[in-house]
Amino acid sequence: MNTEEWLISELKEKKGLDDSKLAELIESKQKLFPSLNKESALRMIATENGIHPIRRSFKIGDITEEMSHLNVFGKVNRKFDPRSIKIKNRDGRVMNLNIGDDTGSINLVIWDEKVIDNINASVSEGDEISIANAYSKKNKMTGSMELHVGSGTAISVTNKSPQNQPNVKYTRLQDIKEENIIYHIKGFIVRLFTNNIYLIRCTECNKKVETTCDVHGDKFLSKTLLISGIIDDGLSSMKISFFDKTAEKLLQLSKSQSLEDKLNDLSFGMYQVEVAATARKFNDIFSLTARDVKPLAYNMDRI
Ligand SMILES: [Zn+2]
Repeated sequence: MNTEEWLISELKEKKGLDDSKLAELIESKQKLFPSLNKESALRMIATENGIHPIRRSFKIGDITEEMSHLNVFGKVNRKFDPRSIKIKNRDGRVMNLNIGDDTGSINLVIWDEKVIDNINASVSEGDEISIANAYSKKNKMTGSMELHVGSGTAISVTNKSPQNQPNVKYTRLQDIKEENIIYHIKGFIVRLFTNNIYLIRCTECNKKVETTCDVHGDKFLSKTLLISGIIDDGLSSMKISFFDKTAEKLLQLSKSQSLEDKLNDLSFGMYQVEVAATARKFNDIFSLTARDVKPLAYNMDRI
């Protein structure tokens, strides 16, 4: 239930107003104050009738069915990946977080696309978050209580878990001077070389091959993802390679469906990333091998 719906239901229940009477009151308010929109008029009527959308803080253990305007504070026990679902023939996503305090734990159900993206980028397990203006609902399948987050809900990280705090030091590409140590770099992927993204080896002779091994044919070939590109930190750029799992993590940054679309998408310089990488020097030129890649976290105190 959003604020507007809540005010309407309170006015109906506590003041015995029906839809036509409410519409009449709203109309007369708008006649009096021509710039007033419907919701503001409704708020005014509610206030005059002693109904205030008070936001209330609750311990998780005290949350019961059908409560709205809840403020809850808790620690993120688990963060689940967003899932695709069909909502009334439309493709949508839903995401769950499990949060807890000293009285219990509850699943958070997040429907709003924007909130999902923000939470995905900035909330980690172990963080403490505060949720304002959520509503509770009983899950019909499991019978357990859930906290629902809509577009009117504000979520903010109040305390980053120490293990999630970035106490890493970032290095500028131009300051990379040594091989075999891990550098943390922030930058944009500005180009991917997409013509050849697999590294093919013959596992029998452990050699890199083009398509098949001259000695063993295609019997012992192993195919590994190897995506190379350019990272740019605004001051300079450097070649960077992503292997295997790290290459998959890179591809996951793009929401496109097919591999080809993902590669194209990632080549446009739209993705700001944080990478951990080791450097290698060849002919006096450094290049990077990524060990980890993630989207650059929003520096946010409010989503
Ligand atoms: Zn071979």
